[in-house]
Amino acid sequence: MALDAGVRCRCIEEGKAKPHPFPQLLVIDPVEGPILKPSATEAQWEQHFEWLGDPKICKHGGWIVGDFLGNVVLAENVRNALRMMEEKTDDIFPVLLDEVVVNGVHTGDAVEAIDAKRVLDEVERAEKLLPRYAPDASPAMKDFFKKMRRLAEASIATGNPIQF
Ligand SMILES: [Zn+2]
Repeated sequence: MALDAGVRCRCIEEGKAKPHPFPQLLVIDPVEGPILKPSATEAQWEQHFEWLGDPKICKHGGWIVGDFLGNVVLAENVRNALRMMEEKTDDIFPVLLDEVVVNGVHTGDAVEAIDAKRVLDEVERAEKLLPRYAPDASPAMKDFFKKMRRLAEASIATGNPIQF
């Protein structure tokens, strides 16, 4: 299992995406992104997912950032490093620990755009503490924080959630 994450572009909200098959049913949820109203049928949901997953939905293919963050082992290592830094310093990493590296098998969850600023703040503090408290941190772990920074910045810029 792996941890993937992405942030959608704003083309759907801005009317620049391929037309939706049922525009009257489409709503943008702050957590789940583009979804259908409760009255939608199963067949309409199927067409919705086809539309949403179409790489030609807009010039970005629907996503401005999409990253493979790492496997379950990396998630475990990041979790251990963050917990260790929480124990040894006054810093805490609640969003990263409770919403990102929970178990390395995140699918269908999201960090809302209003929390992206906190993610960015936690990433910046973790990157500052790493050299001192985890000098043997792997390149993959450093890469993980770089990718989380990019995702958080994209979420802040678009107002869309970081989806896992
Ligand atoms: Zn787009």
